[in-house]
Amino acid sequence: MENFEALRQLISRPEKVVITTHHKPDADALGSSLGLAAYLVKLGHTVNVITPSDYPRFLNWMPGEPGVIVFTDNKQKAAEIIAEAKIIFCLDFGNLQRINDLGPVVGEAKAVKVMVDHHLQPQDFADIRVWDTKAAATAELIFDIISFMGDEEKIDADIADCLYAGIMTDTGGFRHNSTTPKVFRTVARLTELGANGSRVHGLIYENNTEQRLRFLGYVLAEKLVVLPEYHVAYIAISKEEITRFHSETGDTEGFVNFALSLEGITMGAIIIDRTEAIKISFRSVGDFSVNDFARKHFEGGGHRNASGGKSNDTLEHTVQKFVSLLPAYKEALQPVPEKPVALVLPTTAI
Ligand code: 5GP
Ligand code: MN
Repeated sequence: MENFEALRQLISRPEKVVITTHHKPDADALGSSLGLAAYLVKLGHTVNVITPSDYPRFLNWMPGEPGVIVFTDNKQKAAEIIAEAKIIFCLDFGNLQRINDLGPVVGEAKAVKVMVDHHLQPQDFADIRVWDTKAAATAELIFDIISFMGDEEKIDADIADCLYAGIMTDTGGFRHNSTTPKVFRTVARLTELGANGSRVHGLIYENNTEQRLRFLGYVLAEKLVVLPEYHVAYIAISKEEITRFHSETGDTEGFVNFALSLEGITMGAIIIDRTEAIKISFRSVGDFSVNDFARKHFEGGGHRNASGGKSNDTLEHTVQKFVSLLPAYKEALQPVPEKPVALVLPTTAI
């Protein structure tokens, strides 16, 4: 609790605050940033949220989103605001490499740096750390901070929706084994404070564009590769396919879960050639650590069962490298007796 006390001192007077979060922010990254921002504004702070890159369109509903500064679109302005900040919050990442070119700007800034995160193996760059790998989402930690300050009543419906969105998505809709009793207590409290879970669910999960759905259909029919010998299934998507299906940021989010959902599969991966570097997402069930796998082979990391990485090689070579690594993991990839996230419906489902 020492860190929470230090944080209390730090935010006790109105200051210029910057909140930043990881590359290609997801709902936890953006929801915890905008939720914290709205809370700090209520305390009298001047707050700017700066993201290192753009983010999926299905997050545009988030209260406060129009004020977000995207670093790649506005480098000069963002750098000036960061230079003047007294406090910089770094949310949902533990390594400055996760914010790309913003990393050195934040690293060299004079401001007091506060990291709030739940990923494994963080770097030592922050003055104050609120770090808990048992937390299901950074949004859960933001709730803990506000609660510790005795300010739960300051959580209005907008803040509650932002935090709810982060917890809902990072737990895969309250499915993953990170969904602790505390998660349910937190979302129950957020609901009391005005979060509308059904609306948030609809805005994020039932908001497909037609082209995304058709792209998903194509990917599942044509691009899913299953390697039963290794209990691995993967999908590789080329630049040409991204263009052909007009795929935008966030459109491929969740595709990897279909690979993992296959019976007997221990690791799912998606390898995408969208930007300069090839981006890879890994998912696993059981003890197989895709965090270790991504760290060791693809300059990445994350959580034990959900991680990401990258490759500067071609798509073809990246896929070859991925497949060639599997024999060494054959034992470790043996299927778990029961999949923690198995979707087993009762035969007499209503
Ligand atoms: P996703 O596959 O959805 O992009 O990310 C899965 C998890 O791994 C998230 O918690 C994300 O923050 C983390 N992650 C994704 N890409 C990287 C990466 O390149 N490096 C690290 N350290 N973590 C990543
Ligand atoms: Mn998160």
